[in-house]
Amino acid sequence: MARRTSEVAAAASTSSGATLFARLGIRREQDLVLHLPIRYEDETRITALGALRPGETAQVQGVVVRQEIVARPRRTLAVELRDDSGSITLRFFHFYGSQLRQFAVGNRVRAFGEARGGLFGLEMVHPRYRVVDEGEPLPQALTPVYPTVSGLGQARLRATILRALRAVQWPETVPAAVLAALGLPASADALRAIHQPAPDTSARALHERTTPAWRRVIFDELLAQQLSLQRARAARAAQRAPTLSDDVLARCLLQALPFRLTGAQQRVWTQIAGELATAQPMNRLLQGDVGSGKTVIAALAAAQAIGSGWQAAIMAPTEILAEQHLRRIGPWLERIGVRIAWLSGSLKEPEKRAARARAASGEAQLLIGTHALIEDAVAFARLGLAIVDEQHRFGVAQRLALRDRLEATTTVVPHQLMMSATPIPRTLAMSYYADLDVSVIDELPPGRKPVLTRLVSDARRDEVVARVRAAAAAGRQVYWVCPLIAESEALDLQSAIDAHAALVRELAPLRVGLVHGRLPSADKQAVMAQFASAALQVLVATTVIEVGVDVPNATLMVVEHAERFGLAQLHQLRGRVGRGSGESVCVLMYRGPLSAAARERLKTLYETGDGFEIARRDLLQRGPGEFLGARQSGEALLRFADLERDSDLLGAAREVAAALLRDDPARVDEHLQRWFGGREEFLRA
Ligand code: ADP
Ligand code: MG
Repeated sequence: MARRTSEVAAAASTSSGATLFARLGIRREQDLVLHLPIRYEDETRITALGALRPGETAQVQGVVVRQEIVARPRRTLAVELRDDSGSITLRFFHFYGSQLRQFAVGNRVRAFGEARGGLFGLEMVHPRYRVVDEGEPLPQALTPVYPTVSGLGQARLRATILRALRAVQWPETVPAAVLAALGLPASADALRAIHQPAPDTSARALHERTTPAWRRVIFDELLAQQLSLQRARAARAAQRAPTLSDDVLARCLLQALPFRLTGAQQRVWTQIAGELATAQPMNRLLQGDVGSGKTVIAALAAAQAIGSGWQAAIMAPTEILAEQHLRRIGPWLERIGVRIAWLSGSLKEPEKRAARARAASGEAQLLIGTHALIEDAVAFARLGLAIVDEQHRFGVAQRLALRDRLEATTTVVPHQLMMSATPIPRTLAMSYYADLDVSVIDELPPGRKPVLTRLVSDARRDEVVARVRAAAAAGRQVYWVCPLIAESEALDLQSAIDAHAALVRELAPLRVGLVHGRLPSADKQAVMAQFASAALQVLVATTVIEVGVDVPNATLMVVEHAERFGLAQLHQLRGRVGRGSGESVCVLMYRGPLSAAARERLKTLYETGDGFEIARRDLLQRGPGEFLGARQSGEALLRFADLERDSDLLGAAREVAAALLRDDPARVDEHLQRWFGGREEFLRA
């Protein structure tokens, strides 16, 4: 139990060793202990060669009867093993001289790998193998297989982990009474049972991570996440925000609106207005399906902040969306006397400087823009409220930067309102978003009709084009969204340009516009404005229109190559229509043959228009990573927990975290240190 100068640390820090381990996220001994198997291999049994079937992964053993280096088509070492029941060829495409000696005829070899049917009978390509003596005992337990990187073999990794497991002290961080109530083992025991499962452990339960040991580790991971988020929340609650309690301006805006708030909007607005009026910083996520009317809530909140003598900022993830806020919210608020500044990455430097100066002097009361708001280090005179639209579209790093900017320097912290049209399933809301309060607008404005969804093979493109023409003839407008080819932005662009050219021809004399991400900002804005004013009847677009665009007269949406889009994306796209009173249709055009996953996605879209249900299925299909917009940072993800499978543990972890934070800060520190080292920041982004 030598803790400090253990041989483990030495092993992990030898020359290239340290870098290899670091690439696995292993920097400390604790990290080794928490580096858990991705799967297990069964080396407790030997499969007779005669009983081995192609496709089977198994351990075999036999005597070398032939060794041969084949020169063509590729230099290959072939080794034939034989037992009483049959034979197999082991094949190596790269090998050393020492291996030729190991495979001397007459030697006994134990090999583990996947059997394939080859030209001359069964083969294993690059199996794991060992020379053994006759009667050498088999392992009693399943063998763990760890995630690794090239250059770091399983054997070395396994040995290093086992040494760490013996060396590291692992104080229990969860009270015994809690463990007893949950039926979970001690943490140290659980880790040993995962790294070295007892011989009688159910292989299936191990693989499914449902053994008591796995459940304990998963509980610990969820607990760490909860502790981190709840502590962040408590820290925030201890800070002071401005009291934004003057509602005169917000009332003016309410009066000036061309519609009345829906019941859901009213409820949410009452809640937010109340929170803004307290000195506790608001940290609220406003969820509402596409078209549910989140923007007006943002405008009301901004009005209340400004009416109370503070500034507000609205940040959106794309230039188009930010511009739309400027166009929509701008006039609403300007009419009631609010001074607005605009900041985006595409502005020229002098214009940016001017916008920053207006924010810094306090002359501008509302700043609307893209993430240039964070990147350009805007110093507000008196920022009282920061609003982030479509917050899930921002990366983890950007969300962190924003939070740090808002919370770091000033003594008074602005209130934060985040908005998202991608509903967060309950399990995610309870885990990744546990430091947020959530409000939901669960009602659409009156008079909306559900969007009809049609799945159409692209063999019937002509019919779709005819439908576009008919919609235009009826005075309606149409979106035509082009495929996304992930590998190449240039190709995406070309496909949109081609589609546009073809449609201009096919639909003449209709006016067909084109908008894509590479278009200079001014052009983009011009095209969007033309479409909004109905000067264009058809808008060909790449997914830049995915979020937030609002043209109520557009009633037909065509998505080309719909099979290439994700579920959430398609749902967002579909939400661009069905915004006015007209009957709306979304045509998902696909090219077969469809993969099983694509078929499933399209079927889901066809079956339901409910954003929550779609989000739930999306989570099931893709896992939480993409949901969180966290692709840049694997660290934000839970490594072992699966929120669907482990939802019972999630609830428990939440309660235990609250109790520990209240009663036992020392255990909290130990637990967080163990799980995150210095990296917990990312979980709160
Ligand atoms: P999202 O929640 O997707 O951001 P928006 O805020 O863009 O939705 O609202 C969609 C459309 O509904 C806009 O045209 C908006 O003016 C309109 N709208 C919002 N609230 C109401 C309401 N209470 N009654 C009628 N129309 C509304
Ligand atoms: Mg919106």
